[in-house]
Amino acid sequence: MLEIADLHGFYGESHVLHGVSLEVRRGEVVTLLGRNGAGKTTTMRAIMGILPKRTGAIRFRGAELVGMAPHRIPRLGIGYVPEERGIFASLSVDENLTLPPVVRDGGMTVEQIHALFPNLKGRGATQGTRLSGGEQQMLAIARVLRTGADLILLDEPTEGLAPVIIEQIGVAVRALKERGFTIVLVEQNFRFAATIADRHYVMEAGRVVDMIPNHRLHASMDKLHDYLGV
Ligand code: ATP
Repeated sequence: MLEIADLHGFYGESHVLHGVSLEVRRGEVVTLLGRNGAGKTTTMRAIMGILPKRTGAIRFRGAELVGMAPHRIPRLGIGYVPEERGIFASLSVDENLTLPPVVRDGGMTVEQIHALFPNLKGRGATQGTRLSGGEQQMLAIARVLRTGADLILLDEPTEGLAPVIIEQIGVAVRALKERGFTIVLVEQNFRFAATIADRHYVMEAGRVVDMIPNHRLHASMDKLHDYLGV
């Protein structure tokens, strides 16, 4: 579904992606693991076309995204939830859920969103700023699901959240996988990653240096400790 080959990414003169290659099949949950600064967020930004410069190939359903104008990319069905979440804090939950434009058939209804994230139910009039961090994360994911995107890029969705909320996010991600969504996840929370992912790509210094199927994760712990420094 998504194929990245020899991707280079730059912030001005700073060359931060050095030939990233990976592929994500339809219906998979794949993580990007790696130390701070390895290039995980930058890879997501490159997919979305919001990096100042990128070269190489990013193919999504056969379309080449490198060179494509950033506003066209979400319309292909790719939804991005950045680390800073990107909800409208001054608007209500309902407003946040009704504003996203539907870009493809299959956008979730508000009822479907409530079934997925029961915490948002009954909170329609609540202003974004009054939500907890976990609820804001759920709302940010919900906004993307409204659009009909079926490839979802999630940048550290569990960061700063309590274990019980992380578990709820995990339940939702598994439900999305069951519905056939494809998910790419940047994750520092190793345990969380292991409970939901099919495969893990390890990034180091702007490159993918390893791919570990989830069933090999435990057997690969020593290697991972070296990669991640944990
Ligand atoms: P983190 O968990 O810290 O976000 P990451 O793997 O997502 O780690 P990136 O955010 O992709 O890493 O950063 C990759 C490299 O690009 C780092 O060296 C970082 O300092 C640099 N970088 C990130 N954003 C910018 C920017 N706006 N301008 C210049 N350099 C940047």
